[in-house]
Amino acid sequence: MHFHVITIFPEVCEAYTSASVLGRAQKTEKGKGAKVRGKKIAVSYYNPRDFSSDKHKKVDERPFGGGPGMVMKAEPILKAWEKAVGKKTVSLKHGKVKTLIMSPRGTVFTNGLAKQWAKEYDHLVLISGRYEGIDARVGVILGAEEVSVGDYVLTGGELPALTIIDSVSRQIPGVLGTFESLEDERATSGVTYTRPEELVYKKKKYVVPEVLVNGNHAEIEKWRASRSS
Ligand code: SAH
Repeated sequence: MHFHVITIFPEVCEAYTSASVLGRAQKTEKGKGAKVRGKKIAVSYYNPRDFSSDKHKKVDERPFGGGPGMVMKAEPILKAWEKAVGKKTVSLKHGKVKTLIMSPRGTVFTNGLAKQWAKEYDHLVLISGRYEGIDARVGVILGAEEVSVGDYVLTGGELPALTIIDSVSRQIPGVLGTFESLEDERATSGVTYTRPEELVYKKKKYVVPEVLVNGNHAEIEKWRASRSS
């Protein structure tokens, strides 16, 4: 899976995607013996400012019809998209491309969508808005889907784009250390504990449920099933 992020703050996003699990998934790794783990994902960034024809690299303008704030211009975003996947969309051998526009009014993103996109597409383009949003013609021209990460409004589409990249990536086989750590049916993971077995905080004792330390795996599974939703 190749993620293409269109944002005026690439360095903010890159810090996140180059760390931890996502960072590792972008590298080839030497496993046990001569085994080499291939790259599972790639992440590329495109800054609309680099595609602005304006000498001040301007990417926003006042909205038609009036109103507060500024709107992101269409052309720099369209040019960035062309650079990312323009050629790939005309040739099937380059794989399937889906374009997403981050928007608080879009389809609400779910784990189900993450699974579906991980399976169906080879390229996901994530367009991140700022200010009052993006010129509506971008979505029409690119046949893009508007996606929201929840019923709240953020100052930009960077966190939503990262949320989607993170969630889709962990659905790709080999990205997580053990594929089993992916909770398949559950939206949230079960209750977890680690050392110490007895935690003392402000003179009060907090102990780990007995069933988890007694080593009976059948009972542990039963207990976990009863606690998860
Ligand atoms: N008044 C504008 C608010 C724009 S918020 C509107 O109603 O659309 C600025 C940018 O942040 C948006 O263009 C979008 O890319 C991003 N954004 C904010 N909240 C979001 C959410 N819940 N999900 C996805 N993107 C969001």
